[in-house]
Amino acid sequence: MDEQESLPPHVLIFPLPLQGPVNSMFKLAELLCFSGLHITILLTENIHNRLVLHTDITSRFDQCPGFQIKTISDGLPDDHPRDGGKFLEVFDSLRTKTKTLFKDMLTSDLLCFDLDGKERRRVSCIIADGVLGFTCDVADEISVPIFCVRTISPCCLWIFFCLPKLIESGEYPFEDDNLDELIKSVPGAETFLRRRDLPSFCRSGDLTDSNIQLYKTEGQENSRAHGLILNTFEELDEPILNQMRTICPNLYPIGPLHAHLKKKQTTLRPSSNSLWAEDRTCIDWLNNQLPNSVIYVSFGSIATMTNDQLIEFWYGLVNSGQKFLWVIRPDSIAGEEWRSKIPVDLATGTKERGYIVEWAPQEEVLAHPAVGGFWTHCGWNSILESVYEGKPMICWPYFFDQQVNSRFVEKVWGIGLDMKDTCDREIVEKMVKDLMVLRKEEFLGRANHMSKLAKNCLMEGGSSYSNFDRLVKDIKSLSD
Ligand code: UDP
Repeated sequence: MDEQESLPPHVLIFPLPLQGPVNSMFKLAELLCFSGLHITILLTENIHNRLVLHTDITSRFDQCPGFQIKTISDGLPDDHPRDGGKFLEVFDSLRTKTKTLFKDMLTSDLLCFDLDGKERRRVSCIIADGVLGFTCDVADEISVPIFCVRTISPCCLWIFFCLPKLIESGEYPFEDDNLDELIKSVPGAETFLRRRDLPSFCRSGDLTDSNIQLYKTEGQENSRAHGLILNTFEELDEPILNQMRTICPNLYPIGPLHAHLKKKQTTLRPSSNSLWAEDRTCIDWLNNQLPNSVIYVSFGSIATMTNDQLIEFWYGLVNSGQKFLWVIRPDSIAGEEWRSKIPVDLATGTKERGYIVEWAPQEEVLAHPAVGGFWTHCGWNSILESVYEGKPMICWPYFFDQQVNSRFVEKVWGIGLDMKDTCDREIVEKMVKDLMVLRKEEFLGRANHMSKLAKNCLMEGGSSYSNFDRLVKDIKSLSD
C-alpha cells in the first residue's frame, strides 16, 4: 500500500449559505474531523467573511491539522443583500454560476488538502446540502462518491418526497380555501396533517411556483447520492424515517448535531458559528432569574415581522406577567422607527420583566436553568436545540418547513403549542401562561422525556452514535 492510500479520506463539505445549514454542517465537519478524516469545508465568500467577523474560525482550528476552510463565490456582487427573504436570489445564483466554478475547483486541484506542504491530496468524498443538486451532477461527472445532507426537518423532507403524489391525487393545489382540511397523500400523517401545515410555499396554489418545481424532485435528487445524512435521531422521527427509507434506503440520522459535537469535543473550545455578534450580557441577566421562570423568544436568522405584529407580540408577553428574554434581530422588523414608537406601558413592562438583545448565544440560553420555555419560529435547529434541553415550545412558524414542524411539536410530540396563522396579543398571553404556568408540568414532563431520549442516542451504542460510526466506516470504504 503506498502512502497516499494509507491516509484518511479527504472529505469536502459544502453547506447551503444560510445560518441554520452553516451551523449544523460545521458541526458535522468538526465531528468527522474528530473521527480522523481530513476535512475541507467550502463556504461562500460572503458567509466566510461574516464568520471571520463574528467568530473565532480563523484560530479555532489551529490545533486541527486535518481541517481546512476554502471559499467559493456565490456569484453575486459583494454588496448584494442576502438576508431576510433574499435567499432565492442567492440560491438561483448558486445553481447557475457556482456549479461551473465548483467543478473547476475540484478538477484543477484548488480544493486539495495540503499535507505539511509536502503532498496535495484530492477530494475523495463529497458531503453537500441535498438542495444543491448540482453537486450530485459534478460528483457523477468526476466520479467522486457523494452523500447528501438535509438540515431541514425529516417531516418536511417527507412532504417534499410526497409532492408528486399530492399533485397526482389532485389534493394539491387545493380545491377550496379550507385550510383545516386533512391531507391524505402523505403516508404516516393522514390523521393530523392539515393543508395549513404544509410548507408555506404550498399556500400559493401555483404549480409553476419555483419552490414547488424545486422541491418536487427532492425524492429523486436525494436518492442519487450514496446516502442521506439527517440532523435528527431515530427515537424522535422513527415513523417518518421509516417512510423515507422506502425512497432513500440509506439514511444516517446522526443528530442532534450540536450536542453530538459537544460529546466528542475534547480539545477544542465550544464553537460558535454565528453570523451576528452574540450579546452575552443576557447570560448575566439569566443568572439572576429563578429556575424555569423565563420564556426565551427568538425567531431565528431569517424571519421578519411587521411593526403591528411586533406590538401584538410585545403586549402579549408583557401582559402574561412572565419574565422574558427576547432576540430582536436588527433586520427583522421593517424600518428602524419601531424603537421610537414603543408605547410607554410596554417599555415599563419590559424594564420590569424583560431583556432584549439583537442576537443571543442560543444553545447556552436554552441550556440555562432559568429558561422554562421557548417561543420559536420552529426552525429545525432551534427545535432540536430545545428538544435536547427539554424546553417546551410555543410555535409561531414563519415559512418553509416551520409550518409542518410546529404541527409536529403540538400533535406528534406533545411538547408545545402551535400559534400558526395568528398574531394576537390575547392568544400570546394565554399561550405563554399555559406553557409557563397552567400546563407547565404536563409540557415539562414530555419535554424532559424527549430530552432523555436525545441524550441517550448520543451515548455509546445509542442510535445516533451508531449511525455516525456507520457513516465514518462507509466514507472510508467508499474512499478506498
Ligand atoms: N441562533 C443563535 N442566536 C440567536 C438566534 C438564533 O445562535 O439569537 C442560532 C440558533 O441556535 C440556530 C440558528 O441560529 O442554531 C437558527 O437556525 P434555525 O434552523 O432554528 O432557524 P433559521 O435561522 O434557519 O430560520
